Amino acid sequence: MKTTQFVIIGLGRFGSSIGRELIELGNEVLGVDRDEEKVQELSTVLTHTVIADATEEEVLRSIGARNFDCGVVAIGDDIQASILATILLKELGVKKVVAKAVSELHGRVLERIGVDRVIYPERDMGIRVAHQLVSPNLLDY
Ligand code: ATP
Repeated sequence: MKTTQFVIIGLGRFGSSIGRELIELGNEVLGVDRDEEKVQELSTVLTHTVIADATEEEVLRSIGARNFDCGVVAIGDDIQASILATILLKELGVKKVVAKAVSELHGRVLERIGVDRVIYPERDMGIRVAHQLVSPNLLDY
């Protein structure tokens, strides 16, 4: 079976957690972050890591973004960077792009520019925990 190739933009808590798990699940992951320390932390875990600004088109071209099956934009606070990185991945031809949103408006913008799935980590986790709290089988929690 062909391994799926992921590119993760932003290696904060959210992006690094996705990256670690994808590796555990047997996938190939390229992690990109402009913060050298974040990249250092993940350099021995992920398949490849790059210190770079993902809002620069040339950077995404040079890492061969178009060859990836899936891109994860895990930048939150810098909404402009999140939007730019997302649109660049889409334009370069990454098959599926998922992106984290920090607000409903941010999520709406991401949808408008064609993101395949918007993730609201805190909201989605809150919903999941609520379901687990009322579930009779709390051992799964
Ligand atoms: P998390 O909640 O995932 O820990 P955070 O709140 O620490 O995230 P965010 O602002 O959401 O920080 O950014 C997540 C990561 O994305 C950071 O490690 C940051 O360095 C990186 N990042 C932000 N902008 C860019 C960019 N233009 N290019 C590459 N990486 C970026």
